[in-house]
Amino acid sequence: MIQNFQGMARKLTAKLRAEGISNPAVLAVIESTPRHLFMPESLAHKAYENTALPIGQGQTISQPLMVASMTQLLMQHDCHKVLEIGTGSGYQTAILAQLVDQVFSVERIAELQYQAKRRLKKLDLHNVAMRHGDGWQGWKTKGPFDGIIVTAAASEIPPALLQQLTDGGVMVIPVGTTSQRLIVVRRFGDEFEQKELGQVKFVPLVPGATV
Ligand code: SAH
Repeated sequence: MIQNFQGMARKLTAKLRAEGISNPAVLAVIESTPRHLFMPESLAHKAYENTALPIGQGQTISQPLMVASMTQLLMQHDCHKVLEIGTGSGYQTAILAQLVDQVFSVERIAELQYQAKRRLKKLDLHNVAMRHGDGWQGWKTKGPFDGIIVTAAASEIPPALLQQLTDGGVMVIPVGTTSQRLIVVRRFGDEFEQKELGQVKFVPLVPGATV
């Protein structure tokens, strides 16, 4: 059992700051969010290390630096209504929920979604709506979104997600199979501007199916 996570969380945010995360709101939320509640208890002692960890079903909770970088990218664009693809543990969802007005999150594995929902409720985060379904399709009836974050690597940018961005909206998405890059897409009317950032490593955005 982790009794006092604040000290460990403070060390983690110091590391993130040293790695270039500068948005004070993002750092503050990471520092106050109990990441150890988003994983199996047997791994909780590693929760404040800067690493991805297994959460069951062959999936992982993303590395804190990746969560911080992607969140910081979205926050640069004044996002209020965000779509997340790949709820997983719900940790990234929890971070976003404390920074924006509304989060919509889609996950294909029902068991992971169920656990994530319970964790968010326990933390009193109620501005999140979840959907069990295929992230390649986004969540059309709730869109458009001024921010979209995809936390699994897509073989190509899902066309449905582009259509669910507002004019001026921004999407952060890892793209690629064996080698993946983080891509930032901005919508300007019917034009989409793409910027390629560094190399990343995510579990795949599984095509189509639901489990
Ligand atoms: N943000 C999460 C990352 C979880 S890993 C966290 O930090 O915990 C990526 C998640 O994407 C997995 O839970 C996986 O089941 C989910 N996923 C993969 N393909 C998907 C798809 N097509 N639609 C919805 N979710 C998908």
